[in-house]
Amino acid sequence: MRGRSLAAVALVAALGVSPVLPAQAAEPPTSAPAAAGPSAAALRLARQPLPANDGWAAAGTGTTGGSAADAAHVFVARNRAELVAALSGEAAPRIVFVDGRFSMGVDADNQPLSCADYADPAYDLDAFLQAYDPAVWGRAAKPTGPLEEARVRSAKRQGDQIKINVPSDTTIVGINGARIAHGSMILANVHNVIVRNIEFTDAADCFPAWDPTDGAAGNWNSLYDLVSLTGATNVWLDHNTFSDGNNHDADQPLRLGRPYQVHDGASDIIRGSDLVTVSYNNYYDHDKTMLIGSTDTPGVDVGKLRVTVHHNRFNNVIQRAPRVRFGQVDVYDNFYTATDESYGYSLGVGFESSIYAENNYFLRSADLGDGDLIKYWKGTRITATGTLVQVGSRAPYPVDLVAAYNAAYDPDFSPDAGWVPTLRTRVDPAVLVPVIVKAAAGARRLGI
Ligand code: CA
Ligand code: CA
Repeated sequence: MRGRSLAAVALVAALGVSPVLPAQAAEPPTSAPAAAGPSAAALRLARQPLPANDGWAAAGTGTTGGSAADAAHVFVARNRAELVAALSGEAAPRIVFVDGRFSMGVDADNQPLSCADYADPAYDLDAFLQAYDPAVWGRAAKPTGPLEEARVRSAKRQGDQIKINVPSDTTIVGINGARIAHGSMILANVHNVIVRNIEFTDAADCFPAWDPTDGAAGNWNSLYDLVSLTGATNVWLDHNTFSDGNNHDADQPLRLGRPYQVHDGASDIIRGSDLVTVSYNNYYDHDKTMLIGSTDTPGVDVGKLRVTVHHNRFNNVIQRAPRVRFGQVDVYDNFYTATDESYGYSLGVGFESSIYAENNYFLRSADLGDGDLIKYWKGTRITATGTLVQVGSRAPYPVDLVAAYNAAYDPDFSPDAGWVPTLRTRVDPAVLVPVIVKAAAGARRLGI
């Protein structure tokens, strides 16, 4: 059994080197006997609720997902159409196995769709760039008019194809090296969802919006998070992998003088979402990683956005690991690597946020300071305790992150988040975090 699963891993790795991106959709299932269905171990795992006390998602009703699904509501999805169908229909606890690798960017015949296929007949990028060049359009207002309207219509066509809408009371578990490419999983105004053991890659937006009012030089902004929680409560994201796949931000052109950003969040948690546990995930090669709260305007987020982030690997992501507004957010036992020259910061202390950071381990480059690991985004307070920092191959040393930040920057943070987390099942000493997290975080680590 063990030998067979290792052979499957090797096969997946071999297929993964295919340089032809659109061919992903046409790949045959990577599991040899695809008709065999989920193993006994996978079936057991899909019946697991979130353990008691395992982070904020254990509060309130707890998080059971679809663990109580009856036999008629256990599905296996091997392509886009099967996944959409499995997540549709009557409300009931459901288990959905994502089997192998597939793309959401495909047509009804499972053939790959390109950006050109989504484009509205009236959309033309060159004409768009000419019309909204700051020398023509200025910088005072966002684009309006026929070309912008054509862009919006194009974006809607793409969105309708790649969004994966997840209903309440659902558990989604990846098997056989599950990987969803070019999809955006949406948990909108739903309750009680578990997502485990899936690799999510490259939710690229074919039609980024140009906003000349975003920052001094304007910005291209994209729509699709790999996983998006909006108004979602009691959610457990566990043992998933998030990246931009082989579509790297660094390879994108400059347009209107700014990087053409086709990616948005990896796993964003916004608009009144609450009681979420994000554990043992692997984030790499991505920019805007985990936004918790998308606006400073007090509204549905006040008293919500309570999230636990533990035992995750943040491997040279650029920013937002996480960036927090309003929420009480527990960030412990995470392993951060900050050695890439594009690194921005890890913990974003946003408006009215209360981050409690404990026993996190940072491997950073020598040209950063310890105070660069957190960033001011209009927040005033953060507890950071038990932090270890390693520079290069030297021995790790304890760092008071708040003191280091305050010594380097103003305004100073208060070193007290005003609350102490209690919903934890296992707190490891920071010195063990790199070994534990490297071995355990991400998809394909659950033995199914
Ligand atoms: Ca987003
Ligand atoms: Ca200061």
